[in-house]
Amino acid sequence: NKLVYSFNEGKAAMKDLLGGKGANLAEMSNIGLPVPPGFTISTKACNMYYEKGQEIWPELLNEIFEKLSELENKINKKFGDRNNPLLVSVRSGAKFSMPGMMDTILNLGLNDDTVEAIHKITGNERFAYDSYRRFIQMFGDVVMSIEKYKFDSILESVKEARKAKYDTDLDAEALKEVVSKYKTLYKNEIGSEFPEEPKEQLVLAVEAVFRSWNNERAKIYRKINGIPDDLGTAVNVQSMVFGNMGDDSGTGVAFTRNPATGEKKLFGEFLINAQGEDVVAGIRTPQSIEKLKEVMPEIYDQFVQVADLLENHYKDMQDIEFTIEKGKLYMLQTRNGKRTAFSAVRAAAEMVEEGKISKEEAIMRIEPSQLDQLLHPTFEEKALKAAKPIAKGLPASPGAASGKIYFTAEAAVEASKKGEKVILVRQETSPEDIEGMIEAQGILTARGGMTSHAAVVARGMGKCCVAGCESIKVYEENKKFIIDGKAYGEGEYISIDGGTGNVYEGIIKTHEPEMSGHFGKLMEWADEVRKLKVRTNADTPKDAAQAVKFGAEGIGLCRTEHMFFDEARIPAVREMIIADNIEQRKAALEKILPMQREDFIGIFEAMGDRPVTIRLLDPPLHEFLPHDDEDIIDLANEMKVEHEKLKARVEELKEFNPMLGHRGCRLAITYPEIAEMQTRAIIEAAIQVKKEKGIDVKPEIMVPLVGDVKELAFLKEVVTKLADELINDSGIDLKYMYGTMIEVPRATLVADEIAKDAEFFSFGTNDLTQMAYGFSRDDAGKFIKDYMDKKIFDKDPFQAIDRKGVGKLMRMAVELGRKGRPNIKLGICGEHGGEPTSVEFCHDIGLDYVSCSPYRVPIARLSAAQAAL
Ligand code: ADP
Ligand code: MG
Ligand code: MG
Repeated sequence: NKLVYSFNEGKAAMKDLLGGKGANLAEMSNIGLPVPPGFTISTKACNMYYEKGQEIWPELLNEIFEKLSELENKINKKFGDRNNPLLVSVRSGAKFSMPGMMDTILNLGLNDDTVEAIHKITGNERFAYDSYRRFIQMFGDVVMSIEKYKFDSILESVKEARKAKYDTDLDAEALKEVVSKYKTLYKNEIGSEFPEEPKEQLVLAVEAVFRSWNNERAKIYRKINGIPDDLGTAVNVQSMVFGNMGDDSGTGVAFTRNPATGEKKLFGEFLINAQGEDVVAGIRTPQSIEKLKEVMPEIYDQFVQVADLLENHYKDMQDIEFTIEKGKLYMLQTRNGKRTAFSAVRAAAEMVEEGKISKEEAIMRIEPSQLDQLLHPTFEEKALKAAKPIAKGLPASPGAASGKIYFTAEAAVEASKKGEKVILVRQETSPEDIEGMIEAQGILTARGGMTSHAAVVARGMGKCCVAGCESIKVYEENKKFIIDGKAYGEGEYISIDGGTGNVYEGIIKTHEPEMSGHFGKLMEWADEVRKLKVRTNADTPKDAAQAVKFGAEGIGLCRTEHMFFDEARIPAVREMIIADNIEQRKAALEKILPMQREDFIGIFEAMGDRPVTIRLLDPPLHEFLPHDDEDIIDLANEMKVEHEKLKARVEELKEFNPMLGHRGCRLAITYPEIAEMQTRAIIEAAIQVKKEKGIDVKPEIMVPLVGDVKELAFLKEVVTKLADELINDSGIDLKYMYGTMIEVPRATLVADEIAKDAEFFSFGTNDLTQMAYGFSRDDAGKFIKDYMDKKIFDKDPFQAIDRKGVGKLMRMAVELGRKGRPNIKLGICGEHGGEPTSVEFCHDIGLDYVSCSPYRVPIARLSAAQAAL
């Protein structure tokens, strides 16, 4: 039932109980580093404080005071003593470092008596009162919530009156004046005197730290970073050392390596004659840590040694806080340094080379999703800092882009051809916008979630996209959008950050991604350990080639519908759709065949002997036709058919629930000739590439949306009969596979039957999630946010596989599938295939591969390696 631990009772592994700061202070003390002694009130005490209705209870007080007297004995100073007073800092510290939480209180224990004692002991009156004014300010601000500016303006007025430029220019008299004015302020604000009794000060401060766990800043920070609300914070009470005792004292922070680049070189800053937050608060400009070598060479050498020791001890880049008191170095904090992806990769790779960590440790150390940063252009940090966001949407596809606003795909294409950089801004995108999306630097939509059309397609292209930016009103016809009453028109510049969802006015400078040597090395190590293969979702030779560069081992999903939207072929596609009879339809398909064959030739060539899974046509046909009257008339004229006839066909194809409608294999069952044409295009392309290039092409024909084995069996007749015939006639040996997507829940229930007719399964987890939950994936974005806010979901199931439900269906399909066909090949091609926790799940249930968009391939490779370790 212990609630309070002195530093020598803890260790680094006790972060749950002691918080990160407390655990590391304990660890540093125990390995013999100069850490001012102190104790930690545990997170458990914090949680009990809340259980008890936010009240401190006697047992806790006893334990705190017991540890306090231990501390007093240890350093031979006493709280409130008139000769030799103990002063402490009170520091918050949760398991995960949370900058949003609470500010530290320093110099606690000072009052009108002890300040004089400090004066006498040190012979430094200025120092004593400098510490005192700091304490009253911090206590007033942090514990009693007196607004900080009120203290600041007092300090400023005293500085002004004395013509002092910096706080260090104030002498003891001046600081005494500040103290007395602070006390008056305190009394006016709080209605009582500043508490002189150190124990009372301490208890109030401890409670303030407990309460800070639930302040707004902290709550928001936890939400953004996915930190649970029930961890609680610890409170560290530590004896003070003083960096503000003169020019032989100071305080600073330093990283053992550069947190931006990873370079192995101390990186940090310090200030002479300063305390605590002075360095970060920017009251004076700090000096670079290298300067310390000149100012205090011995201290510098010692610090370098300690930094090395800490890095070796923790085997990771450390972020260290230190203070120098009268020529003596003290360590006040260490933790694993926050770093950019670039720095993380370089540091991990170099630490392997230095023999500090193993390859496996290096692999585990990198946050897979962080790799995104390395694969897309990013805004230059300085330029970004100067820019102000005007709106925020969903970070749908990472990368940074600046360009001129255009509201239609056509306008975007036109502008791009003129050499302009374009941001395509749409209410939401649809398949007709593809060309505009290809030409644009980035895409911004007002509606749609993380799996909306814009988001999925943009990720596929590796193009930056901010989706569902609800605060902008888009008036496509008037060629403008409005944010907060301000209009932005066609041709004006904006910048969007697909990694954060931020939208900015004007141009922000970007820099291009670099695939550094360290990155490549880390990926090689990942490949050595992973069991899952990694494929890509790609529909064009260009995407395929890009994915191969990123290490893709095949195509897991080639969607054929995007090919149908091509300007040159959409007339033939439409002809096919409105055909009155099978002859007409076949004639139209005849026109599409050579183009479709060319598509596959390009893709096969780009992929070489890697397997390529091609999905037969999936979307409902109405997506290929216009919907409003004017467009229908235009098209009718263009196609030279009667307007009424075209309109009737459009009406006929209209569905109440297109997602549950005439699509996927259902299309091919009605119109087998479509599947035939596609099969022919695939197999003829494969034969040609094999013949001409000698490439051992491995096509895999995949049927979408199967729920019943008979659907698959019916189409198997159509597909394999033709494919076998073509291969026979060609006289060459070509192997292909026939398989299905598993995306209708029923298919998972009868997977053993389905496996009899499928050589492979590929989980289409977008549709599977949609149908398992009954959530429309195009609309769910709107309310899933509420689900997250109300803690019904902690993750969006369209982003990370819902292991319990959807995952159970997958597990069952894996088991049944293997029963029906022991050597069945199993993969996933939904958006989840590139999401780290989902990749881990795919590893756990024994899939053979995951498939994801080209830019996520490295992320999947790393995630798969981590899952295997
Ligand atoms: P944060 O979590 O915001 O970094 P800290 O608790 O680490 O807050 O405190 C901030 C700074 O206050 C430290 O970096 C250090 O400079 C100073 N500080 C904290 N405790 C002490 C102490 N016991 N003696 C001297 N300085 C201290
Ligand atoms: Mg700190
Ligand atoms: Mg699907």
